[in-house]
Amino acid sequence: MPDVRWRIGRDGLFSDRQQDEAFIRAEWGVLGPRVRQIGIYGSLAFLSATFTDLSVLGATPVYWALLAARFGVLGWGFWLARLGGAPQGVSVRRVATALLGFELSIMIVFLLVVLAYGGSADYHSISALALIFAGYAYVPVLRREAMWVGGVFTALFAMVVWTSLHFDAKYVNIAVVLFGFANVAGWQIAVSISRGMRLAWLDRRRLDQEAQVAQQARRDAEQSEENLERLFDASPMPLVLVRLADARVLRYNAAAKTLLDPCDRLHGDVFTTDFYEDPAQRKALLERLQVEGAVQQAEVRLKTVEGQGVDVLFSMRPLRFAGEDCIVTGMVEISAQKHLERQLRALAHTDPLTGVQNRRGFFAMAERAMRERPAGEPGPCVMLIDLDHFKQINDRHGHPVGDEVLVEFAQVVLSLLREGDALARMGGEEFCILLPHTRATQALEVAERVRGFVAAHPFLTSAGVVRLSLSVGIAGCDAPVQSIDKVLSMADQAMYRAKQGGRNRSEPYCA
Ligand code: GH3
Ligand code: MG
Ligand code: MG
Repeated sequence: MPDVRWRIGRDGLFSDRQQDEAFIRAEWGVLGPRVRQIGIYGSLAFLSATFTDLSVLGATPVYWALLAARFGVLGWGFWLARLGGAPQGVSVRRVATALLGFELSIMIVFLLVVLAYGGSADYHSISALALIFAGYAYVPVLRREAMWVGGVFTALFAMVVWTSLHFDAKYVNIAVVLFGFANVAGWQIAVSISRGMRLAWLDRRRLDQEAQVAQQARRDAEQSEENLERLFDASPMPLVLVRLADARVLRYNAAAKTLLDPCDRLHGDVFTTDFYEDPAQRKALLERLQVEGAVQQAEVRLKTVEGQGVDVLFSMRPLRFAGEDCIVTGMVEISAQKHLERQLRALAHTDPLTGVQNRRGFFAMAERAMRERPAGEPGPCVMLIDLDHFKQINDRHGHPVGDEVLVEFAQVVLSLLREGDALARMGGEEFCILLPHTRATQALEVAERVRGFVAAHPFLTSAGVVRLSLSVGIAGCDAPVQSIDKVLSMADQAMYRAKQGGRNRSEPYCA
C-alpha cells in the first residue's frame, strides 16, 4: 500500500516535484546508468545515420552541415553520459534538463535531415514513429515536461510534412491513426513504467523503515535487559527475577546468592518454588500480586539450598522481560529480628521461677486448643491446682525454700503428664494443667494420679524434706461452653469445693 503522503499524479510522477527528485536521487543507482546508456548509444546510433546522409546528399555543404549537427548531438550525448555516471549526490534538475535537451536536439536535427532529404513522407514517417516509441518506452521521465516531447515532435513533424514533403492524400487518415496510436500507447507505457518504479520504490522504502523500526525495538529491548542486569548486579539488596509461567529463576544477583546459596551448591536450572518453606505462602503472595498489582513488605519464611530457615521481607513487582511475564522480587533478611521476636514472645509466656508457661502462656495455649479442637472431639479439660497450706511452708522454712518446692513441684508434675498436655503457673502457688481432647472423667483420673503422687513425694529442699498436698478442681467442655474463662471459673469453683471438702483431694465441676 503506497504511503498516502506520497501522491502519484496522472503522469506517473510524484505530484510534489521535490518528492520526485528525492525518488530520483534514491534510485540513482538504476536511473544513472540508464541515462548514461541513452547518452552514449543514442548519440552513436544517431551519428551512424550520417552514412545514409552521405548516400542521399553526397558530399555537399548540406551534408557537412548535417554531419556537424550530428557531432553536436554526439557531444551532448557524451556530456549527458558523464552526468549519468556522476555519483548519487547529482543535481537531479540538471540531469533532467540535459536529458530533455538531448531529446530535443535529436528531434530538431532529425527534422533538419527530413527537410534536407525532401521527397516522400512515407519513408520518414517510419523513422519518426520509431523515435517516438523509443522515447516513450526507454527514456526515463526525470521531469514532467519530458512527457510532452513525443507530442511536440509529432506536431512539428506533421508541419514539416505538410509544408515541405510529398504525401499521398489517401494515406493521411492512416498516418493520423498511426501517430495518434504511437503517442497514446507510448504515453500509457511511460506512465505505467514511471508509476511502477515509484510504487516499487515506496514499497521497498516502507519495508526498510519497518525493518529499521523493528531493529531499533530489538536494540531497545536488549538495552533495557542489559540495564536491568546492571541494576541487579549493582544492588546490595538480594534481587531475583522469576518467570511467572514456570517459576524459573532467570536472574539473581550476588546478594541473593549469598543469602540463599552461600555454599554455591546450585548449578543449572533454579526454581523459586524450592525456596519456600511453605508452598502455600507463595500461592498467597502471587494472588496478592495479581489483585493489588504489587506486594510490599510481606514477611516470608524461606529456606536456603541447605534447608536452613531464613526470614525475609518481600517486595514484588510484575514486569515484562525478554518478552515474557516475570516477577522481580527484592528482599531484606530479617532472621535476627524474627529470632529476637520469638525469644521475647517465649519470655513473655514463661514463668521465670519454674520455667513453665505463665498465665498469659496458658491463655494463649488454651485458646488455641479451643479453636483447633476437631468437631466431635471432646474439648480441652482444665485442672486448677492450689497447693495446700503453702503459707505454712513459707512461714516454717522461709520464702526461698517455698520457691524450691514450687520449682520441684513443677518438675514432678511435668514428668507425670502426657505429651500434648501443658502445665502453667497461674500465679502464687496456683497452677493449671491443660489437657486437650480429654473428657472430664479422664481428667479426674489424671488429677488423682498427680495428687496421689505429689502427696507421697518427699520434696528435697535445702531445709530438708518437705511434704505437700494439692486441692484440684476439674472442668471440661463436655457441656457446650463459650470461652476458656468460663471453663477456668468452673474449675475454680470445683477447686473451692476441694478446699471446703478438707483439701488433698480432686473435685470435678458440678453445675
Ligand atoms: P490454702 O491454699 O490451703 O487455703 O492455704 P495457703 O497457705 O496456701 O493459703 P493462701 O493461698 O492464702 O496463701 C498462698 C501463699 O503462697 C501466700 C504466699 O506467701 C505464698 N506464695 C505466693 N507466691 C509465692 C512465691 O512465689 N514463692 C513463695 N515462696 N511463696 C509464695
Ligand atoms: Mg492459693
Ligand atoms: Mg494454697
